[in-house]
Amino acid sequence: MAAAADCPGTDAAFPETRGSSATAGGSGVPGAAAGDKPVCLIVLGMAGSGKTTFVQRLTAHLHSLKAPPYVINLDPAVHEVPFPANIDIRDTVNYKEVMKQYGLGPNGGIVTSLNLFATRFDQVMQFIEKKRQNHRYVLIDTPGQIEVFTWSASGTIITEALASSFPCVVIYVMDTSRSVNPVTFMSNMLYACSILYKTKLPFIVVMNKTDIIDHSFAVEWMQDFEAFQDALNQETSYVSNLTRSMSLVLDEFYTNLRVVGVSAVTGSGLDELFMQVEDAAKEYERDYRPEYERLRKELTDAQSKKQQEQLERLRKDLGAVDMRNTPSTADEADIAGPSDLIMTRGNPDEEAVDSDTDDIDHAVTEESKETEAFGNFLKERMEVVQVRNRKCMMPEDP
Ligand code: GDP
Ligand code: MG
Repeated sequence: MAAAADCPGTDAAFPETRGSSATAGGSGVPGAAAGDKPVCLIVLGMAGSGKTTFVQRLTAHLHSLKAPPYVINLDPAVHEVPFPANIDIRDTVNYKEVMKQYGLGPNGGIVTSLNLFATRFDQVMQFIEKKRQNHRYVLIDTPGQIEVFTWSASGTIITEALASSFPCVVIYVMDTSRSVNPVTFMSNMLYACSILYKTKLPFIVVMNKTDIIDHSFAVEWMQDFEAFQDALNQETSYVSNLTRSMSLVLDEFYTNLRVVGVSAVTGSGLDELFMQVEDAAKEYERDYRPEYERLRKELTDAQSKKQQEQLERLRKDLGAVDMRNTPSTADEADIAGPSDLIMTRGNPDEEAVDSDTDDIDHAVTEESKETEAFGNFLKERMEVVQVRNRKCMMPEDP
């Protein structure tokens, strides 16, 4: 469980595991202005890139500046969380139990746990909202395997919920020491690029592990096309031809990209990082929020009513999911409980609302189908497990 030596005790049974009383109001605190909304840093990156260590380092750094962040762990399978987490997915969803109940392997268990958690993320939002005066930053650590978050319905639900209320910045952590090969570097950058286009949120690439190798070689590759081509010329694999063409495409992506070299282990580079974060938060207010408000206005009343109806249905469907922390008092039951699973989006009849295919928002339709598909998936898995269990219980034929 999370180490919380310097954090005050729990002030809500579920899902917030630790309250926090310190206020980010002291002088010298990065951007701490009373009344401001906290900036959410969504930390993404390949397994082993150092996300968790980075969140741990940021947490310690902000504590030392008397600006403790609000920290959320979204990795259901992590053995130990090395920072004091205010909200820990493991307190809400029992990953091993999910594997057992739905007959899933480790990967399926992680994805399903995160999906289940996402269905009640509106409650997490309430917790953050309640504590918004106390924290300048909300840090979100994500599962080890990047695709669990970036290519699942839950990642989208969580990201959009956060970004609809708070300034959000995606922090893409990469392992600099494992990107010295130009082809590997390019693959990593393509992945970063795909996340930027998917979330459309302000974006910072954190080149981590600079205690092992300085990130200047990577910066040079991004700024100087010829330098990258030279590096590629050392490569003999057929992949390098593809990489050559792709690097032309990425040039545009690099132009406006924020890049910071840090070491999550030594803590170097954090001042520069926070300057970039503040800049990115401004970009959110300037570019993302107006666009979001515009899209929200376009959502008609009929659509939102239909969404509400579907939420109700899904809530009922998912009612049987077993959570570890079942509320014991009426008050707690108010906050959360097995019957309180909430889908935050979904609208499978999108196309019926508007037959003009040019106007269909494909992102919305795709993910609304995912939400329903997830409900069906859970039901089917449950049936499979029940049949399997019944077979096990049946006496052997004589
Ligand atoms: P995650 O899977 O992205 O959460 O990665 P972890 O935070 O668990 O880190 C993976 C490994 O990289 C661990 O062994 C860390 O100690 C190591 N690591 C993380 N950050 C750094 C760093 O800045 N420098 C060095 N040398 N190692 C690091
Ligand atoms: Mg991790």
